[in-house]
Amino acid sequence: MQSVNRLSVSSPGQKRQMSAFKTDLGVLKRIARTFVPYKGRVSFILLILLVTTALGIVNPLLVRAVLDDAIMNHNMQHLILYATIALIASLLGGLASIAQTYFNSVIGQNIMRDFRNQLYVKLQSMSFRFFTSTRTGEIQSRLSNDINGAQNALTDTFTRAVTCILNAIVTIAAMLYVSPLLTLISVVLLPLFLWITYKSGKMRRRTSLATQQTMASLHALMQETLSVSGVLLIKTLGRQKMVQGRFKTENQKLTELGIQQRMIGRWIMFLFDTFFTFTPTIIYIVAGWQIIHSAQGASITIGGIVAFTAFQSRLFNTFSQIFPLQLDLQSSLALFERIFEYLDLPVEIHDAPDACTLEPELVKGEIAFKAVSFTYKDALTSFGKLKAPGQKQNGQTASQSGHATPFTLDDLSFTIKPGQLVALVGPSGAGKTTITYLIPRLYDVDSGAVEIDGHDTRDIKLESLSSLIGIVTQESFLFHATVRENLLYASPEATEEEMIAATKAAAIHERIVELSDGYDTVVGERGYRFSGGEKQRMAIARTILKNPRILILDEATSSLDTQSERLIQAALEPLMKNRTTIAIAHRLSTILSADLILVIDKGRIVEQGTHRELLAHEGLYANLYQQQFSQQAALDAV
Ligand code: ATP
Repeated sequence: MQSVNRLSVSSPGQKRQMSAFKTDLGVLKRIARTFVPYKGRVSFILLILLVTTALGIVNPLLVRAVLDDAIMNHNMQHLILYATIALIASLLGGLASIAQTYFNSVIGQNIMRDFRNQLYVKLQSMSFRFFTSTRTGEIQSRLSNDINGAQNALTDTFTRAVTCILNAIVTIAAMLYVSPLLTLISVVLLPLFLWITYKSGKMRRRTSLATQQTMASLHALMQETLSVSGVLLIKTLGRQKMVQGRFKTENQKLTELGIQQRMIGRWIMFLFDTFFTFTPTIIYIVAGWQIIHSAQGASITIGGIVAFTAFQSRLFNTFSQIFPLQLDLQSSLALFERIFEYLDLPVEIHDAPDACTLEPELVKGEIAFKAVSFTYKDALTSFGKLKAPGQKQNGQTASQSGHATPFTLDDLSFTIKPGQLVALVGPSGAGKTTITYLIPRLYDVDSGAVEIDGHDTRDIKLESLSSLIGIVTQESFLFHATVRENLLYASPEATEEEMIAATKAAAIHERIVELSDGYDTVVGERGYRFSGGEKQRMAIARTILKNPRILILDEATSSLDTQSERLIQAALEPLMKNRTTIAIAHRLSTILSADLILVIDKGRIVEQGTHRELLAHEGLYANLYQQQFSQQAALDAV
């Protein structure tokens, strides 16, 4: 409806409004398509709606028959007949609306289940970049709030819209049947009624919006000024009077708006009451005049007048729902638009049509970077069209608008032979983690290629690629599940013996058996909390179980106590054995045992060689070694 209004307004933004109208139409068409699998049930609902609408006009017609026939002709039998029909009609109406509610919820729930599934699958297929550039709250809100809202639209708003249309058609037909002249008078009064409804709705919305805004700023003020840090700042700066003043002003505004809102509601009620008294009065005058002045019997009877006024108020009631319905429809369309927007997101990283599967046992584990360049494209380049709450029109968030030059890996070439350990060393922010992200295709290179055993990673199926690679990060993530479930996550088919062998190798078995339920202890958010070092050993055990050909290891920068360090060291040894390892090295032992050290700075390899060679070179590595590791070496020597 709003779209129709937009069309009739001639303004400089007309083109934009036209395109908004087209979008609404497109969204509506797409929503209609989601009903296709349920078309049988939808037709049944339409039939039920038609029956309930038709039953709605039975009562006034029965009243007419009771007055004009049964009572006028003193016919008791007819009276009982009409009363019985009224009873049956009301029973049927009730039963029909129960059936309608049932089918409505079946369709609504099914469509929502389909949307939830599609969205979840879609989100799982999205690239790492998507998740690093989208707020988690935003993703969850689309999956839960938007879908729930859209479900209300499906089960309520759309049915109301169809009921409104059917009601209007059936009621006008019934009115025409009773009296064409009175129908004409009522239709002439409709614009006046619509104008009152439109104006009153607009006034209501304006005050309710102002109330919400005032309430929001009052809440924000309370949050800011009653938080620990807020209170501390206010007290130390002596600004109590100022914040009290601000609070009182907002509070006063809220009070006035509350009164205004109540009074507007009262005036609107008065206008509607007057209208609903005034319009039947016109009908009484015109129809009464017809009866009084007609010599051979008027075209309308007393019963006809009663039935007609009932139809008339039914018609106005139906039309009174148009504007609120239009608003509900508009917000429902916006919800669907947000869902479709996610469903339509481009999947950045996916399998090539002819991608191959590599058998893990046959993979030697050679990794080659060939003239690789990569830039963290602004998230907006990929997902810029997303409309997120709090985002500006062009998709930029406030924090992103002043973006500096994005980080770039520049022309990297190196080869890691099967079974070698390569250590990546460099200052913070040099690009070490980024390099490791390119191997499992968390990001795709912009140019050049990353190869495993001579296969470009983009030519390997993603599932196959991930089966070849194991990653142990600094922050090991454990699901809210049992220790066993967490361990078997990467290799569900592993036996109990294999699992225990892995935890023993990772030096975590003894800690696990000490827990209240051993391997069945629930860990994670609301379960047992492992320490940082224990979590990392759990992750190492999980990776040992997965037994990948290639290991990516991001060593923890945060210092652990010596005991934990030793345990992790002990856990890592069996993990690195017999597989190609690329380690972001923060431990001296890793660096010393590395077959090759790549020194990274500002996205480039600036030095490479063994520890001895690089120390002799007296470049960046020698500097870093002096700063970070010489102390560690001295301590280890003690
Ligand atoms: P550290 O040793 O501190 O972990 P690093 O050498 O591993 O550092 P990276 O994490 O690879 O460095 O980051 C390299 C650069 O890329 C940094 O400047 C970082 O800010 C930037 N960067 C990292 N992730 C993203 C991202 N998702 N989008 C944009 N820039 C990013």
